[in-house]
Amino acid sequence: MTAITRDQAQALAALIATMRPDWQTPGILKALSDARARGTGWDLAHAALYAAQDPSVRTPAVIALPGDHWRGRAIGDGTPLHFDRCPEPGHGSYRVDNCGACRSETLEATAPRVTEPGGVPMPDDVRAHIDRLKERSR
Ligand SMILES: [Zn+2]
Repeated sequence: MTAITRDQAQALAALIATMRPDWQTPGILKALSDARARGTGWDLAHAALYAAQDPSVRTPAVIALPGDHWRGRAIGDGTPLHFDRCPEPGHGSYRVDNCGACRSETLEATAPRVTEPGGVPMPDDVRAHIDRLKERSR
């Protein structure tokens, strides 16, 4: 485990102080020092930033305390992923504005129907060419 260095803590405290003007750099440094045994420099940097980002956290001392800011939340977890789902029966796993099942059903409905077994419809010019070859071989 690589603990945060003094230079890193000072840089992090300076950054946080610019983003939380109501927090003083010495208080942030004290909290970082108190928390330095809790994890790596990365762990501490993430926890400190999460704590600083939360407006309900009044003082930097919270950085050193246990709490949600230490739980390793991924960036962006604050806003849950949500999209409206396709209302068609059986399409519930698709986005309403990009439903793969609806596209598939539309393509299926407009696809050419194969009237002969064993393949795709034969273009008329190919059919005519085969018929001419058959006539010649007779
Ligand atoms: Zn759909």
